[in-house]
Amino acid sequence: MTALTDKTLLEIKSDLAAKRVSSTEVTKAILGQIEDMKHLNAYVTVCADQALASAAEADARIAAGEDAPLLGVPVAVKDNICTDGIRTTCASRFLENYIPPYDAFVVKKLKEAGAVIVGKTNMDEFAMGSASDFSAFGAVKNAVDPTRVAGGSSGGSASAVASRQCYAALGSDTGGSIRQPAAFNGVVGLKPTYSAVSRYGLIAFASSLDQIGPITRTVADCKYVYDIIKGHDKMDSTSYDGDLNQGETFGTLKGRKIGVAKEFFPSALSSEIKSAVEKAIGFYEANGAEIVETSIQSFDMALACYYILSSAEASSNLSRYDGIKYGKRASGCKNLRDIYYKSRTEFFGPEVKRRIMLGNFVLSSGYYDAFYLRASKARTLIKQDFEDALAKCDALICPIAPTTAWKIGRKVNNPADAYLEDIFTVPVNIAGLPGLSLKCGEDKDGLPIGMQLIGRPYCENTLLSLGEIFEKGGRA
Ligand code: GLN
Repeated sequence: MTALTDKTLLEIKSDLAAKRVSSTEVTKAILGQIEDMKHLNAYVTVCADQALASAAEADARIAAGEDAPLLGVPVAVKDNICTDGIRTTCASRFLENYIPPYDAFVVKKLKEAGAVIVGKTNMDEFAMGSASDFSAFGAVKNAVDPTRVAGGSSGGSASAVASRQCYAALGSDTGGSIRQPAAFNGVVGLKPTYSAVSRYGLIAFASSLDQIGPITRTVADCKYVYDIIKGHDKMDSTSYDGDLNQGETFGTLKGRKIGVAKEFFPSALSSEIKSAVEKAIGFYEANGAEIVETSIQSFDMALACYYILSSAEASSNLSRYDGIKYGKRASGCKNLRDIYYKSRTEFFGPEVKRRIMLGNFVLSSGYYDAFYLRASKARTLIKQDFEDALAKCDALICPIAPTTAWKIGRKVNNPADAYLEDIFTVPVNIAGLPGLSLKCGEDKDGLPIGMQLIGRPYCENTLLSLGEIFEKGGRA
């Protein structure tokens, strides 16, 4: 018999609905697993009491014959997503005691669906990083090999899902933060189309790029959670009010076209990663899909473009942490300038300070045209290239990252090296497109290798269908 914690979200949901197990039993099993897996440091806050109270409530509702999509199912939420009455730290000293007075839109959706929120997951401070080692609460460890990083910035969510500490977790993705940690831990992550999921209650990093999405163990679970959290919200001015199901759901590959852009396979790419993704392409072709050669000529501009735009937006978004309105204030301040200076010096970590400086630099009057303006123009080109490529195929396929999970501490003092990790994920945020990350192989150390499927706007269903078909038959 499969242990309770080993079941997928859909399996546990049907066990709960059929009363084969109670939510209290399931929640206790998950809380026990969180205790056993404490060394991974996947959670900043575990809310055991609230979780058990929600589980008891779910059990009463199930006994009364009620049903809801996640009734009684334990899930986790990244710690940059506001939860009413539960501390939300963004893994920063600045917000270490911040308790939001409201729920984010997605948290409201989870609660309406009956979910049991077990805790808030660890991450890079303010979601800036690719390893979840820039957390004020210590580095997250990889669920497959705890000597290695979990990826970032949603490393806690991915490590928790992979190590059975919840059935699904929410993450946020500004330049890869759902997809890369999902890949590093061998699970599934979806970055939805920009504007498909409301960011109301998400602590902003770079507002023109940020998206919330699910991390799960299977593609079917991912689709299930995505369908719960997506939807229009008047509280997010960018929220899309149109048809969010513009893709198709299908079970065979006949008539499907998958695009391969040569720029996504640079000569320096490790042969293990290249061959794992090529195998996946081979699977799609052997099962009836047509492989189309395409090109994203602006691909090599994307990384610089991302770090300019995201840092510029971050420097503006993070100006609200001034030691006055909320968050902590440094002690011994003599005047207003002192409050700003000392609080920001003391409570921001090194990576966040780096981004704020970079952002202010690229926006400064002498350099604005050379950096910010050029990056904005590059963004237009990147968007256009993706639109052209995706006009010829249903989805593009490429790696998630140029490496697998590295040893903890290896890149922490080498930011440029860590930024290079994002080359395959950031173009998708710049273009506002959906991206699905799933495991397609393992390297010689047994570490997961991830592939990415990129689709047209609001065509998540297409990606999820392609992902499900691969998950059933393609993984070696
Ligand atoms: N690694 C990228 C960065 O540090 C992406 C982060 C994210 O998606 N939140 O900016």
